[in-house]
Amino acid sequence: TAVLDGKVAFVTGGSRGIGEAVAVRLAEEGADVALTYQHSADRAAEVVDRITSLGRRAWAVHADSADPAAVREAVDGVAARFGRLDILVNNAGVGVLGPVETISLADVDTVLNVNVRAPFVAAQAVLRHMADGGRIINIGSCMAERVAFPGGSLYATSKTALTGLTKALARELGPRGITVNLVHPGPTATDMNPEDGPGADMQRGFTALGRYGSPADVAATVAHLAGDGARYVTGAGIAVDGGFAV
Ligand code: NDP
Repeated sequence: TAVLDGKVAFVTGGSRGIGEAVAVRLAEEGADVALTYQHSADRAAEVVDRITSLGRRAWAVHADSADPAAVREAVDGVAARFGRLDILVNNAGVGVLGPVETISLADVDTVLNVNVRAPFVAAQAVLRHMADGGRIINIGSCMAERVAFPGGSLYATSKTALTGLTKALARELGPRGITVNLVHPGPTATDMNPEDGPGADMQRGFTALGRYGSPADVAATVAHLAGDGARYVTGAGIAVDGGFAV
């Protein structure tokens, strides 16, 4: 049997990029997978097709992470539809970069709501459904570990908050055997951070490996954390960043 056979995973922002790779990888490992999206209904449907063709159940839910009621409803919907919920991956995120004076209050609200409040609310909501031995995996950023260039005040603030959330939840949920970990991607080729974008060469230069990672690189570590082999890993921040933060 596959490692995650019989498990149900919920991945926020699973229509593109890292979330898509995570959703498909967890399905390859045997899980049934629900994913959220904000705008990309067609892309989300394609991910559902990929997962279904692997012989796993899949469901795409429209849920704006900025709306806590939508996040809660999605979580409850997944548990109702699949009968259980074992793995939460808080992946949906937005990046607003720029000189601190140019960041608007609206930007602050959006980034903190999507990157911080939504993972908090999703964790609260899944706990009512998650059995002992569950998994919460947050997606942070190498910029929570090393702010290598200017313009990251808001984004780094949001991603660093996940360190506190991860550690506090790990402490609180340990007695239930639920592990909580934080994966820090480095420059990863997605729509958010294209390999040929204006800042790409600079970012490449900050890594030890001298290149971008792929969404599959991040998904491999998420899959490890979701599996039984990582049962003694909790409260950890794990870089998948090509050495960006060293
Ligand atoms: P992309 O922009 O390529 O994809 C973002 C995904 O999140 C999409 O599925 C998008 O849905 C979804 N999403 C965005 N906002 C919302 C929202 N308000 N509600 C619901 N879903 C939403 O991003 P990446 O794959 O690059 O990033 C994934 C995570 O990894 C983020 O948390 C990001 O901060 C983090 N990260 C990425 C790095 C990189 O270099 N790429 C580096 C470090 C961290 P839709 O398709 O509907 O828009």
